[in-house]
Amino acid sequence: MTEDETTTLHERIRGCQACDLSLRRTNAVPGEGPLSAEVMLIGEAPGANEDRLGRPFVGAAGDFLEELLQQAGYSREQVYICNILKCRPPGNRDPLPTEVESCSGYLDEQIRMVDPLAIVTLGRFSLAKFFPQQRISRVHGRHAKYLGRFCIPMYHPAAALHQSSLKTTLLDDFAKLPRLLERARVEKLVEQPQPDPEKQMRLFE
Ligand code: URA
Repeated sequence: MTEDETTTLHERIRGCQACDLSLRRTNAVPGEGPLSAEVMLIGEAPGANEDRLGRPFVGAAGDFLEELLQQAGYSREQVYICNILKCRPPGNRDPLPTEVESCSGYLDEQIRMVDPLAIVTLGRFSLAKFFPQQRISRVHGRHAKYLGRFCIPMYHPAAALHQSSLKTTLLDDFAKLPRLLERARVEKLVEQPQPDPEKQMRLFE
């Protein structure tokens, strides 16, 4: 996908009226990050700060997310960040199944657009998109293949702001990302079709 197509997708999200969340939002929050990102982080839904600014993870949970990324050797600018819902649910209540359904096509397009090596799900609603039968307490920090790419579930950074023991868990889980990405890069190379043996010699100069 090109930058222009991305802009169009983000504009469609900003103008979306598919569910009632659009009636109360200040801004829809499409997501942000480079199209070349190897990692895509998917949170739950915008909160008050995100709704005000139209950007994902800009409040306290965002600050902690940046710390987690930095500890793992990444900067926020290197990754693509978005959410299951693009509009803030009133009072930050849990997303409704109908809202998740209304928004899911946008996230599918974002995944196709970025084509990341690894998806990090943040929190149980994000996990449920990929592995609806799994519990976050059981699978956090472990990875599985989902449609040809790695998916690694993590607790939501906001959860660690309320329950401090989860901070270490999140730091440990994020620390697994570099090795997972190394493996994903190698597997992607291996999966590339090998050139036809007849033509292989012509590759050498
Ligand atoms: N929590 C989320 O899940 N997403 C945000 O963008 C901010 C807080």
